[in-house]
Amino acid sequence: MKCPFCGFGQDRVIDSRESREADSIRRRRECEKCNRRFTTYERIDEIPYMVAKKDGRREKFERRKVLDGLMRACQKRPISTIKVGQLVDEVEAFVTESSERERTTAEIGELIMDRLKSLDTVAYIRFASVYRDFKDVREFKEELEQLLSHHGEKRAKGEREAGEKRTKSQS
Ligand SMILES: [Zn+2]
Repeated sequence: MKCPFCGFGQDRVIDSRESREADSIRRRRECEKCNRRFTTYERIDEIPYMVAKKDGRREKFERRKVLDGLMRACQKRPISTIKVGQLVDEVEAFVTESSERERTTAEIGELIMDRLKSLDTVAYIRFASVYRDFKDVREFKEELEQLLSHHGEKRAKGEREAGEKRTKSQS
């Protein structure tokens, strides 16, 4: 926000409140250079939804990014484009429902993983391995083993059963 008096680009927000109609936010600002005060109005529908990252940085929520991440995870998997679109819609609704106009990447990641888990194990694993950081690798491995033993992939089922038979006959 440029100072209307001296044109300097940095200011401090000293007060912000919603307008009576709740469709805009009025901010009282003070220029960091000349210290003069001015008021700005921002329409609420022009204020972006934000995503807070682990390191504290924030960025604008972009539907496109969610879609790209999901498309990568679901590549060559039997998940229809419509299903992927619905999941992106759900994520977007989750962000726009926030009264703070902000969600954390952790909250969004958990939501996506929760849905992918019931859609497709491979897509879930791909997404989770990108999303989760190295600290969680043991926890992730345990979860993975649990998943594989509970659901298993139909394609791998026969092989595993054959393997189990072999193990039995060996012992
Ligand atoms: Zn100024």
